[in-house]
Order: sequence, then C-alpha cells, then structure tokens
Amino acid sequence: MKSKQVLKDMTPYQPGKQIEEVKETYGLNKIVKLASNENPFGHSPEVTNYFSRYQSSFNLYPDGYTGELRHVLADRLKVSEDQLIFGSGTDEIVQIITRAFLYPGVNTVMATPTFPQYKHNALVEGAQVKEVPTVNGYHNLSAILEAIDQRTSVIWLCSPNNPTGCLIPRNHLYDFLDQCPKDVLIVLDEAYLEYVDSTFQPGILQYLQQYDNVIVLRTFSKAYGLAGLRIGYGIANSGLISDLDVVRGPFNTSTIAQKAAITALEDEAFLNDTVTRNQAIKRSFEAFLDSIGWNYYDSHTNFLLISMPISGEQTFQYLLEHGFIVRAGEGLGVPDTVRITIGSETDMQELQRVLYQLNTAITEGTWS
Ligand SMILES: *Cc1c(COP(=O)(O)O)cnc(C)c1O
Repeated sequence: MKSKQVLKDMTPYQPGKQIEEVKETYGLNKIVKLASNENPFGHSPEVTNYFSRYQSSFNLYPDGYTGELRHVLADRLKVSEDQLIFGSGTDEIVQIITRAFLYPGVNTVMATPTFPQYKHNALVEGAQVKEVPTVNGYHNLSAILEAIDQRTSVIWLCSPNNPTGCLIPRNHLYDFLDQCPKDVLIVLDEAYLEYVDSTFQPGILQYLQQYDNVIVLRTFSKAYGLAGLRIGYGIANSGLISDLDVVRGPFNTSTIAQKAAITALEDEAFLNDTVTRNQAIKRSFEAFLDSIGWNYYDSHTNFLLISMPISGEQTFQYLLEHGFIVRAGEGLGVPDTVRITIGSETDMQELQRVLYQLNTAITEGTWS
C-alpha cells in the first residue's frame, strides 16, 4: 500500500508498564507507578462530586467550541477567548501544530533530550529534525539560534524540560524570543508550569500580542491530575489560533473532559496543596540523594532525573522487583539515569528505603 515511507522506519509509542501486569509477573501485592509524572494525590475531589451528580447526555456531541471551559480559562489566564485552542491532551495540540507547520522540505529545531512527541510528529510529517544537545539538562539557546536557517519552520522549547526538569531562566527566554526570526513559530511547552515557583515563572501570556510567533502549551494532565481524561490547551495570538483551528477535529475534546477541567480549575485549594506537598517531598528526596552521593538534575517539576552509578535499565529492573515503576533514562536519551515522579509522602519513604539498600549493595560490591 501507499502509506508514508517514513512510517516504515518508526515504531508506535511504547507505553510504560501497567500496574496489574507488573503485580502478576513479580508476585507483588502493591505497585507504585512513578513513571509518567501523574499526580500522586489524585485530582480535585470536586471532580468526583460533580460526576456523581451528573445527568449524562452522552448521546449528544460535545461542545466543539469548548465554550464554557474557554470562558472560565480565558478569565483565569487574563487572555481573550479567541486566544485558546483545546486538544485531547497537549499531545493532540503538538500533532495539530506539526500538521499545520511541518512538511517535506522544512526543518524543525528542538533540544535533546526533550519531550519525544515533537520529533515523532515532525518525522511523520516528513520534516527534517535538528536536535541541539542540552547542557546539564538546560536548553542551549544560543546553539538553537545558530541551528535556525531559511527552512526552519518550528522551534520547540520545553520549559521546564521533560525529562531533565530544568527551567529556562526568564531573561534567557526573552532574549531568545527577541533574537529569533519572526517567521519561525516558537512552541513553549509549559506542561509543568503549575509546579514552578511563581517568582520563576516567565509570565509570557501577557506578551503574546507582541510575540505573535509564540504558542504556549499547558495541560490538565499533570498538576491537575486529569491525565486519564485527555485535555490540554494552547494559548497564542488569535490569528495563529484560527489557523490551527482549521486543522483541529470538530469534536476533539469530550464532554466529560471539558466539565472535569472546569471543576478542577475552580478548586484552587487542591492545586495549591498538590504543589506545596510536591515541593516538600521533592526537597526531602533531594536531601536523601545528597546523603547517598547521587547526582540529579535541577528540577522545577514533579519528577527528578537521577544520575546512577549503574545503568538506568538495571535500576529500573531493581525497582520494579521492589514494587516501583520508574522510567529508565536509556529510553529517554539519557543513559545511566532514571526519571522518577515525586510520589506521596509514604511511597517516597518506602522508595528511599529501597534505594538505600540498592546503594549499599552497589558500594559493597554485592550488587550484580
Ligand atoms: C506530559 C507532557 C505533555 C502531554 O500532556 P497531555 O496533555 O497529557 O497530552 C506535554 N508536554 C510535556 C513536556 C509533558 O511532559
């Protein structure tokens, strides 16, 4: 058949291990998943309350304009309603952007390592991908600028970056935006923004009229804890949004996801609690890592990328057998690391106990 040639050289996304599968294989009765940066505290209880009272009308299509959520969110973000686009997760917005901007003959520039969906979707569209290595996990913005040429269509900045957690400093970001050619689209993926201390947040939304070649991506999957419902959004100037809306499917976010997002947005106490607890648990996990002498990247998120004295795959396997699913760095383009989502207080206490054992075994040479 006549599908795109490039698909033959690519593989579908490999999902992380599922909890039930791991329990069965290793005969464990408890498994903690710290692999996908989900919220260990769940989501706002108001979301559950809302749906226990909800009178379903699932025979009807969802509101394709996402009107009610659009209204609430525009108000919250202090942008106008026509500056927003919604997707079935931020993943879908990445797909919409690549479909609108990338095709054979143009190129796209991104950091490495970074969120893999940018490259994946760019390759499907037949664009050339230019990857610029990070420095200690930070975007190398001057090298990214140098990589831009006449054929560059899109630049991806992930801040904080997944998988390193590093945040682009505010003044570096604005210097970059000022120097970047105006005919190049800059995607600023802020999937973890809610975890960033407000004093470090770049506050880009108020400048999107001035930087009309920038689109910001955010999601309800991470700090809001709604990963299973699939809803994310983009914010840009209205002209860019209406171009992207041509590509967007007419009913791309579900009724349930829209309602849940509105309810989650209104529960600011839950979000604040998530962020505060994450910060405290992350600090104490970092102190633990310091105490055993393991290095980690500078993270403004709900995960840490840790450099290991053994390979990431070996660490992954050891932790799996002890009841924790994490991500090996080998699969993320950073060998000899693991990326671990910050879990609940008790789960992280247990994880530290297991890691302490692992470290003792490594230093005593009894680990193989
Ligand atoms: C998780 C993640 C996303 C995707 O989130 P969804 O809204 O669930 O599709 C996008 N970008 C980054 C950097 C992420 O880590």
